[in-house]
Order: sequence, then C-alpha cells, then structure tokens
Amino acid sequence: MPAVARIGFIGLGLMGRPMAKRLLNAGHQLRVFNRSKPPVDELVRLGAEEASSPQRAAEGADYTILMLPDSRDVKDVALGEKGVLQGAPKGSIVIDMSTISPSVEREIYEVFTQKGVEYLDAPVTGGTIGAERGTLVIMVGGDFDAFERAEPILSLLGQKVVYMGPSGSGQLTKLCNQVSVSLSLLGACEALLLASKAGLDLNKVMDVISSGAGASWQLSNLGPKIVEGDYRPGFKAEHLSKDLRITLEVAQELSLPLPGVALVHQLMKSLVARGRGSLGTQALATVIEELAGHKISESAGRLKKP
Ligand code: NAD
Repeated sequence: MPAVARIGFIGLGLMGRPMAKRLLNAGHQLRVFNRSKPPVDELVRLGAEEASSPQRAAEGADYTILMLPDSRDVKDVALGEKGVLQGAPKGSIVIDMSTISPSVEREIYEVFTQKGVEYLDAPVTGGTIGAERGTLVIMVGGDFDAFERAEPILSLLGQKVVYMGPSGSGQLTKLCNQVSVSLSLLGACEALLLASKAGLDLNKVMDVISSGAGASWQLSNLGPKIVEGDYRPGFKAEHLSKDLRITLEVAQELSLPLPGVALVHQLMKSLVARGRGSLGTQALATVIEELAGHKISESAGRLKKP
C-alpha cells in the first residue's frame, strides 16, 4: 500500500461517513461521492475532494470503496453511466463494503476482473460505533492476492479482517451473521416484553441476562434503548429487512428452511410497512408491543433502584 493511498469513497451514510473520516485521519487522500450533499460537504471541510460522479471518484484511485444500501445501488454505481467501472484504473482494487446479494456481487466481480480491476466484497459488522472506532469485523470475498493488497486499508476500519473465500463469500458470511443478529434481536425484545409485563425491574433483568448464557450484543447495546423508547437509528430497520430478504433468497436457492429468519423478516416488514423503516432495528420492539397490547416502558419495576 502506498504511504498515502488515493481512495475513492462512495456512500457517506451512517456507516460510510465515519469510515471515510477514519481513512482521512490516517493521512490518505479521499475523493468522495454521495447522493445527498451534506455529508460530502462535511468530508470536504475535513480535507477530502468532492467527485462529481462515481467514475470521477474512482479515477486515479488505488482503492475505491462503496458503502451503499442495496444490490441495485451498488450495481448502478459500479456498472451504470459514469460508474466506477469507467473510472477505476487497471490494477486498482474496488471494495464493496455494503451488504448486498452474493450473486449480484459475483456478477459485478466478473465484469471488473475482465477489465483488469480487482473487486472484493467486504461487508462489515459492528455498527456505527465500530465504524467510528475502527473496530468493525470485516469478512472478505474475492481473489486472495487482492485481499492481501487491500488488508492494510481494511485494517484501518476493522479490528478483525478475515478472508472467507471466492467472490460472494464475504456476503454469504454476512448473511449468516444477520441470521444470528435477527434472532437475538427478537429474543431481546421478547425477554424485555415478558420482564415488563411481569413487573420486573428491567435494568436488573438486563444486567442478569447479560451476565449469563442469555447474553447478546443486541440485548447489551439495544436493550437499554428499547427500555428508554429511543429508536434513533444506528442500523436502520429497512436495512435489516433487506438483509433478511436476501438471506431468504439464498436459502430458497439452497432449498433450505430458515423458519426463524422468515418470522423476523415478516415482523421487520410490518415495521417498515408502518412507516418506521428508517428507525433503528430496536424499533422491532414496537411491533412486539403492539401484538401484546403492552408497552415495555410501562413496567411497574422500571424505575426501581437496586
Ligand atoms: P445509510 O442509508 O445511512 O447510507 C447510505 C448512503 O448511500 C446515503 O448517504 C445515501 O445518500 C447514499 N446513496 C444511496 N444510493 C446512492 C447512489 N446511487 N449513489 C451515491 N450515493 C448513494 O446506510 P448505512 O447504515 O450507512 O449502511 C450502508 C450499508 O452498510 C448497507 O448495506 C447496510 O446494510 C450495511 N451495514 C450497516 C450497518 C449499520 O449499523 N448502519 C452495519 C453493518 C452493515
């Protein structure tokens, strides 16, 4: 990796913005592109250059990083008019860190590698906190040589960067992660609902569960927000719904039943249909509350001190 790498960065949302900032702070040159303007202006104030298109962001870059919502967005930005494909130099590496369909990722990989540009799928887990602190877990699919060349840049963003196999393997691993995330999120919501309806002290319940076999990232990080009714997004509900849709598409191709995922997907779809898709995933609790006719914050024990 050059001491100062030239990096194109496309997609400056909840995740992309702090990730791009970390790369800038590490002394690299960034050229950024995003659909909406405010995050671009913020990055430009910090020293990045604004690109007028994905093509311009990729021109002359050693690495071009994408952090976009869904498969269609990545396909448009990568292969569309004035897309990354038109700008990325031969021998450079395009790294898609969004969570999208593994088969779409493989299609894009084929197009880029035919042009002599390396292409990796490198989705992440660890949330906006991980993006800010550089403690993401990054799972990578694609050619191993490209992975080795990309690792120093990815290590600025994540504490654990793992090569998973050929193109699409990063995305497949991320879907497995989302199976675990979605079911433990539902578990956290239902545990708090039961505790609340039974009148227990919710803070004590969270503390006890988090000390034993029922502990989960979802309960520790999102449980307190559910109890407080704080639904501001770290990870948007519409994105988890999208991830579960992709997971079920892959399961369908494999003739694999995933009943738990199917259930949480239906509940997430209900949340999105109620206009709450841009809230955080912890807003799943509101759907569970509506099914039960009971609000978790109504627990008689909630305000009791130990
Ligand atoms: P976000 O919705 O906050 O941000 C997406 C950004 O992409 C926005 O700034 C939007 O303006 C931009 N964008 C969309 N389409 C574009 C286009 N065609 N051209 C240019 N810019 C475009 O999403 P996010 O939370 O940052 O998530 C990004 C990806 O990372 C998603 O695939 C998500 O599933 C995944 N992810 C998110 C989290 C999290 O905690 N937020 C964690 C892990 C993975």
